[in-house]
Amino acid sequence: MMVNAVYPGTFDPITNGHIDLVKRATKMFDHVIIAVASNPSKQPLFDMQERVRIATEVLADLDNVSVVGFDNLLVEFTQEHNASVILRGLRAVSDFEYEFQLAGMNRSLAPDIETIFLTTAEQYAYLSSSLVKEVARLGGNITKFVPPQVIAEIEQKLS
Ligand code: ADP
Repeated sequence: MMVNAVYPGTFDPITNGHIDLVKRATKMFDHVIIAVASNPSKQPLFDMQERVRIATEVLADLDNVSVVGFDNLLVEFTQEHNASVILRGLRAVSDFEYEFQLAGMNRSLAPDIETIFLTTAEQYAYLSSSLVKEVARLGGNITKFVPPQVIAEIEQKLS
């Protein structure tokens, strides 16, 4: 049986924490679809097309991964892509409450889709896209947190 997983998020921008999760997921699922949410209410630094392009470039060496933008209901997007799993990452207890609520809502909307969580690699437990942007804005070094292509994109956007 083929099992495809959708990994949804804002990815503004993709970080080493996201990439680690994707790499681990590629060993568990036949295909992993990174679903980049439009999320205009979050006022992202990069627009959806930019976030899709950056993630595609960064993940180019993984052959069972694709990156797609979306702005419809996540469970609909998941069904449209023949996926039966929604994948999310957990960094800390503080992520749990919201993720639990989201998983419950998605199960109520589409009972056939399972949400599966992978816990963060310890070295990325404190890493988030918003913190990376904050550190970059204040001139801090972000080389440990995002790949070189992403550093170049952030520098260009902030300059
Ligand atoms: P969202 O706006 O949906 O939270 P994000 O791009 O911030 O989108 O995160 C997408 C998913 O990746 C979420 O499940 C989040 O918990 C997970 N994630 C983010 N950063 C990390 C990390 N450092 N380690 C593991 N999972 C992470």
